[in-house]
Amino acid sequence: MNPPLPQEKTDGPIHEKTDAPMPIKPGERDRSLAAEVRSRSGTNFNCCFQCRSCGNGCPFIQAMDYPPNVLLRMLQYGMDREVLESKTIWVCAGCHTCSSQCPMAIDLAGVMNTLRIMAMERGAAVAKPNILKFHEEVLGSLRRYGRAHKLGIMWRYKLRTRRWFSDMDTGLKMLAKRKLELIPSRVKAIKEIEDLFQRYGRNGK
Ligand code: SF4
Ligand code: SF4
Repeated sequence: MNPPLPQEKTDGPIHEKTDAPMPIKPGERDRSLAAEVRSRSGTNFNCCFQCRSCGNGCPFIQAMDYPPNVLLRMLQYGMDREVLESKTIWVCAGCHTCSSQCPMAIDLAGVMNTLRIMAMERGAAVAKPNILKFHEEVLGSLRRYGRAHKLGIMWRYKLRTRRWFSDMDTGLKMLAKRKLELIPSRVKAIKEIEDLFQRYGRNGK
């Protein structure tokens, strides 16, 4: 007969000694966020079977704190605060690569968009405040001109963040290749664009 294993010495309950998140017990958390995200995004993500195709194709996964498939699972488990305060929802560029690769046709990009809106509505701490400023400047440009005037967006973004020299080399290359319009042009249907902002917009200025 094998001798009994030595008892590990502890100074108290194990969970007091670690920063690791407590295990989630099904049924313990509120699922109302998941239900609202499903309804507002028009996407039923309960058919996700964690194949990870979305995360494998995501070009920004390295900068995320949770891969998209993990974020979905956290949402299903009712981890509202962790989801709404995650970097993932702000790092997501809405490129739709995940949505197009999902075998269950789950529109993850739409879910991320809904989560960003809800994070702001609920006053959640924004994990990437500079990305939020960038989003706001893009919206502002769309509202003013009906299209994204890249040079103006970058100028206003830098004024707000004071990160004058970041991405400078990329900006100069784009200028040299005439990829940046110096003077913004406005679409003809600017009144219709303004109506859309009045009806649905939040941050365009
Ligand atoms: S690709 Fe679709 S089914 Fe697979 S993990 Fe991602 S969301 Fe879930
Ligand atoms: S939409 Fe967002 S989560 Fe999906 S692949 Fe693009 S960056 Fe990644």
